[in-house]
Amino acid sequence: MDDNAQIIRPQDRRLDELVDQLAEMAPELDMPDAWPGHQLALCGEYGVYRWFVPKAYGGLEWSDADIIRGYLRLSEACLTTTFIITQRMGACRRIAMNEQNEPIKQRLLPDLVSGQRFATVGISHLTTSRRHLAQPALRAEPTEHGFVLDGQSPWVTGSPYADLIVMGATLDDGRQILVALPTDLAGVEVADPLRLIGLSASQTGPVACHRVHIANEYLLVGPVEAVMKQGVGARSGGLQTSTLAAGLAGAAIKFLETEGQQRSEIAAPSEALRDQWQRLCDALLAAAAGEPVGTNEELRHRANDLALRATQAALAAAKGAGYVTGHPAGRWAREALFFLVWSCPQSVLNASLCEFAELE
Ligand SMILES: Cc1cc2nc3c(=O)[nH]c(=O)nc-3n(C[C@H](O)[C@H](O)[C@H](O)COP(=O)(O)OP(=O)(O)OC[C@H]3O[C@@H](n4cnc5c(N)ncnc54)[C@H](O)[C@@H]3O)c2cc1C
Repeated sequence: MDDNAQIIRPQDRRLDELVDQLAEMAPELDMPDAWPGHQLALCGEYGVYRWFVPKAYGGLEWSDADIIRGYLRLSEACLTTTFIITQRMGACRRIAMNEQNEPIKQRLLPDLVSGQRFATVGISHLTTSRRHLAQPALRAEPTEHGFVLDGQSPWVTGSPYADLIVMGATLDDGRQILVALPTDLAGVEVADPLRLIGLSASQTGPVACHRVHIANEYLLVGPVEAVMKQGVGARSGGLQTSTLAAGLAGAAIKFLETEGQQRSEIAAPSEALRDQWQRLCDALLAAAAGEPVGTNEELRHRANDLALRATQAALAAAKGAGYVTGHPAGRWAREALFFLVWSCPQSVLNASLCEFAELE
């Protein structure tokens, strides 16, 4: 594919071409041991990995609003592939935006931007996972030339395919670091991926570090307090999970609209859901432009709620046929549950629990 195939703007017709191909291949990702290698390579060819990276490093530096428009289209077509892209993008942005280590950008970014190498993140143990435990999941011990990492990062998407992992670790004094960990360093052990109820093809699992010596040349940020709050557009990062939930809801609503053409009872619910979807997307785009449309947590709660309701409506409309393995409505309903747990802030979790329990 030549350079003209790159999607330069979210309005490009080539985005339609890419999403059609991703949607067609989405069902096969429900097979055991699947991995969307072909889909990810295709996204590389269409220049998707360039959307998120500054121009100085070969990226296209799309605005936050354009990234939301792009993600909405991709996630409607294939949530698994798009989710993996978010983890890869998280790693690239952490490398590109770090203010401590300029040489690592030149060394790593060209191959990541072109799609030649695959990077992912292992950071949830600093934010939403294992936070109730007395000991940090992954410890960092300073040495003369870098750090020794010891412990485990419990969730790393695409770990068997990763050339490097942007990994968080905690020092004994509570400060934290982020490193770009090459997976071929001695002592790095990638466990078998977990069997999940949806998105299994994301090949997510734990990565252990058995006293891994990592040199300062791989250090991205720190040691500092709360390393995840440093730099890199925290707000837009927070919006991407909600955007993917909206994309999934969009797929389910489209299905309802198609069914509604033959079945009059479906028309009113699908219209109402489409209206809510449009208002959610407008709010996400406004938030990306810095307008005051509520907090990231409020938007996330709305997006989760719509993804759950729209996918269950699609399943109900598909009836028994939707409950048979292979029907997209069943897959979407399982995938929507992911948003209850993926990078879910405590306040959103609390709000969901109260809503499920019908508490004020
Ligand atoms: C498919 C998938 C892919 C993911 N990919 C990535 C990735 O690529 N990179 C990344 O960094 N993260 C990733 N995550 C992690 C994700 O963002 C969240 O951090 C994760 O879902 C949090 O769940 P946990 O079970 O680890 O939470 P925990 O808080 O560790 O909860 C685990 C268990 O501990 C118990 N528990 C929880 N809280 C308490 C408490 N206060 N007191 C006592 N017991 C408690 C409960 O029994 C709970 O079931 C992924 C998650 C999923 C599901």
